[in-house]
Amino acid sequence: MSTPDTAPTPPTNFLRQIVETGLAQGTHAHKRWAGSPGDGAHQAQAPVDPARIRTRFPPEPNGYLHVGHAKSICLNFGLARDYQGVCHLRFDDTNPEKEDQEYVDAIIDAVHWLGFDWKDPDGHENLYYASSYFDFMYRAAEYLIESGNAYVDEQTAEAMRASRGDFGKPGMNSPFRDRTPAENLARFREMRDGRHADGAMVLRARIDMAHPNINLRDPAIYRIKRAEHHATGNHWCIYPMYTFAHPIEDALECITHSICTLEFEDQRPFYDWLLDHLAAGGLIATPQPRQYEFARLNLTYVVTSKRKLKHLVDSGTVAGWDDPRMPTLVGLRRRGYTPTAIRAFCDRIGVTKDYSWIDYATLEGCLREDLEPFAHRAMAVLDPVKLVLTNWDAVFGAGHLEPCQLPALPHGAEGQTIPQRHFQLGREVWIEREDFAETPPKGYKRLFVGNKVRLKGGYVIECTGAARAADGQIVEVQALVIPDTKSGTPGADSVKAKAAITWVGAADGVRAEVRLYDRLFTDPQPDAGGKDYLALLNPDSLKTTTAWVEPSLAQARPDDKFQFERHGYFVADRVDHTAQGLVFNRIAGLKDSWGK
Ligand code: ATP
Ligand code: MG
Repeated sequence: MSTPDTAPTPPTNFLRQIVETGLAQGTHAHKRWAGSPGDGAHQAQAPVDPARIRTRFPPEPNGYLHVGHAKSICLNFGLARDYQGVCHLRFDDTNPEKEDQEYVDAIIDAVHWLGFDWKDPDGHENLYYASSYFDFMYRAAEYLIESGNAYVDEQTAEAMRASRGDFGKPGMNSPFRDRTPAENLARFREMRDGRHADGAMVLRARIDMAHPNINLRDPAIYRIKRAEHHATGNHWCIYPMYTFAHPIEDALECITHSICTLEFEDQRPFYDWLLDHLAAGGLIATPQPRQYEFARLNLTYVVTSKRKLKHLVDSGTVAGWDDPRMPTLVGLRRRGYTPTAIRAFCDRIGVTKDYSWIDYATLEGCLREDLEPFAHRAMAVLDPVKLVLTNWDAVFGAGHLEPCQLPALPHGAEGQTIPQRHFQLGREVWIEREDFAETPPKGYKRLFVGNKVRLKGGYVIECTGAARAADGQIVEVQALVIPDTKSGTPGADSVKAKAAITWVGAADGVRAEVRLYDRLFTDPQPDAGGKDYLALLNPDSLKTTTAWVEPSLAQARPDDKFQFERHGYFVADRVDHTAQGLVFNRIAGLKDSWGK
C-alpha cells in the first residue's frame, strides 16, 4: 500500500472501531487470498496474508469521479493504509451501455492523483473489473436455479412492477415462479444463447414476494441486453444486475469490509442472502464480506451525481468534465485544488451515519491552509486603470526605472532565506480601478485628491487628480511621487502613509488572462427535494478579465499556485497557460465569502 506517508491519523469513527474490533478478535484471520480472484478456485489455496483487512473502492466507469467519491476513496484507502490492509480499485462495469474506457482511464488517474495506490505488500496490483467475473457470476446464477433459489420470469416489465406491491401491500407471485429447476435452467441458457429478445424475460431470485423489505421480493438478477461491453465486447447478451454482481465481486476478492453509502442499507439483507446461499453451495469462501454503510457527502452549491454532471457536460453548460467549476476531481484539479487539501477535507468532515450538508467553505478552508505556507505571493491588477506619476521625470530623470523587491513568502522555511520577487517602478503603473475615489466614502484610505498611499514595495505617492474619457469613465489617475529622502530606497518607511495599494509597473508588467470562477449554482442545495438544478445555474460563475501581473509571474508553469495579494489564491491553468499566453484561474478568495 503506498499512500502519502505524511497523512495525519484521521479522527476515529464508527468504521475504524469496527475494523479495530475485528482485528482484535481475529475475525479476518482465516480470510484466504492468493492474489487473483476470478474463478473462485484461488480461495481454496493456503492463506497468504491471514489477518489483513481488504476494502475496495468500486466506481462504475460511467463518468468522472467527483468530490463525493473522494470521501469514499479516502475512507477505503485510508482504512487500508492505517490498518496495514489493502484497498482494491474495482470497476463495477456491469452496465455496458453507459460505460466507457475513457472513464476507466480517468478514474485510475484521479485515484492516483489523490495519492492512493492499490498495490499490496507483495507487490500485487489490486486493480479489478467486475466484468472479469462474468463467467463466475453466470455459474452462480445456474447454482441458484439448480438449488431452487432462482427462476426465469417471463412476465412483462409492467406486470412485474404491478405485482411487486408497495410498502403497505405485499406483492403477488409470478405465474412463472413455480417452474422446475430444469425448466428454469433451460430457459436461462436460452437467454444466454441469444434466443430471446431484450427484456423478454429476466432471472429473479426466489425469496419472498410478501417480504416487508421490497428488495427481497424476488429481485431481478440477470437481464437480456444486447450491448457491446467495453471489456467483453459482444461475448454476452445477458448481464448481471448490480445488486447480484456486487456481493459476488466482494466475495471473490476476499473483501472484509464492503463500505457503501446509506442508500444501500436496504440492500444489505439481499447481499447477505446471496452470499449465504453461495457459501452454502461451496461457491465462495467464508467468512463472507460484510457490508457497512455511511452517509454520503453532500456539499453546498454542488451536485454530486454523475448523471447530472454528465448532463452539464453534454449540454455545453460547462466546458467539459475538467471545467474548473465542476466538482469532479479533474475539475477541482484544474481549478487549483491540491490532493492534500482534498484529503484534509475528507478527514475533517469525518464519517458518520447522519445525513448532513457540508459547507463549501470547509473545502476552501482546507485549500487555504494547504497553500498559505508555500504559495508564492505576487501582485496582479485585475481591473486596471493607469496611474501616472507626473513628477517622475523631474525627480528621477526621464525613462528611469527604480528596482523594487518584496518577499515571495511571508515566512521562510526553517533555516532558509526567503525568496524575493523583483520588479520595477517607473513613471506609469497599473492600479486597481477601485483604489481611486473621486468622492471618498467614509473611512476610505486609498487614492483621492490630497491623500497619500504607498505603492506596495515602492514609494509613497500623493494623489493630485484624474482624467476622464468622454463617456465619464476614469482613464488615468495622477499623483506625485514622494521619494524617500532619508534612505533613498523604495519601500523604506521614513515617509508615512496610512495605506499601501497593490500595483504593477507599466514597463515590466505582463498581460494575463485571469478567470474569476464563482460557485456554479445560486442555491446552496441545488438538487435537493426535486429542485431543478438547471434553473439554478449562476450566470456569473465565470468572469474573464485581462489583467496586468508582476514580471515574476512570467515564469509560472502550468499548475503553479500563487497568492495574488489581496485577491486570493490562483493557479496557472493546466490546459491553457503557456509562457506566451498567461492564464490564471482563481481557486478561492483569501477569506470565506460563501456564507454571504
Ligand atoms: P453517482 O450517483 O454520482 O453515479 P454512484 O454511487 O452511482 O454515484 P459509483 O461509481 O457507483 O457512483 O460510486 C463509487 C463509490 O463511491 C460507491 O461506493 C459510492 O458509495 C461512493 N460514492 C458515490 N457518491 C458519493 C458521495 N456523494 N459521498 C460518498 N461516497 C460516494
Ligand atoms: Mg453507483
